[in-house]
Amino acid sequence: MDILVSGAGIAGLACALELGTRGHAVTVVESAPHLRTAGTPIDIRGDAIGIAEKMGLLASIEARRIRMSEQTQFVDSSGEPVAALPVTEIGDSDDDIELLREDLLHILAGAVPDSVTVRFGDSIRALSEDGAAQLSSGHTGHYDVVIGADGQHSAVRRMVFGPDSRYTKHLGVYFALARTPVRRTPWGPMRSTTFPTEWQACSTMGAKPSSSFNSVPSL
Ligand SMILES: Cc1cc2nc3c(=O)[nH]c(=O)nc-3n(C[C@H](O)[C@H](O)[C@H](O)COP(=O)(O)OP(=O)(O)OC[C@H]3O[C@@H](n4cnc5c(N)ncnc54)[C@H](O)[C@@H]3O)c2cc1C
Repeated sequence: MDILVSGAGIAGLACALELGTRGHAVTVVESAPHLRTAGTPIDIRGDAIGIAEKMGLLASIEARRIRMSEQTQFVDSSGEPVAALPVTEIGDSDDDIELLREDLLHILAGAVPDSVTVRFGDSIRALSEDGAAQLSSGHTGHYDVVIGADGQHSAVRRMVFGPDSRYTKHLGVYFALARTPVRRTPWGPMRSTTFPTEWQACSTMGAKPSSSFNSVPSL
């Protein structure tokens, strides 16, 4: 079959790998000019571990394992630890594998067979019911299957099923990530940041307001 996948993220590359390996002609369009490698560590856990094994990726994933959560602790203003991250409560099991999102993307991209074409800087402009697709680059094609793997605000879903507002609901949760400078401490080099007093995380994690959050850089 001729298959068009929108998005070269984790889902898109996993589809391309599995379908390409089974002999299908797969084209992936990714709107960014390169793999979007930003991100923090993510976990392979539960069913995903067995799936990674079936895909032949488990050894590569284990080789890139990091132990960021175990190395994270809350400290007071003098640097004394006041709480650790409850790793056993965060994870599903001891088998969970934590690795950088970037590494997982590269593992998937490296395993995609030659029969898969990835078109960076391109996206689907128009789709019709009979599988005809027009790309923003002007390229046209006819596909047996079109897969929308273009993230939470999928353009393919919008084109086929209507506006995002029908399918997404804000859960009232905000999440922010930032890179912080490495500083020397008695426990070795650490990345550190201080939570503002109003951050819910401080009280839910049992740390005092204005406590710091330290993590040993393993990257
Ligand atoms: C830059 C980035 C950083 C992330 N960091 C983390 C993290 O640190 N921790 C974590 O747990 N999760 C992170 N996520 C989310 C996590 O990757 C996804 O929730 C999950 O893996 C689902 O992956 P996905 O392939 O469905 O979607 P995504 O990972 O969101 O990938 C979607 C891909 O589709 C591309 N795309 C979007 N619109 C179009 C379009 N119109 N045409 C073509 N391509 C399009 C995007 O550029 C992206 O490459 C991140 C996602 C992104 C994009």
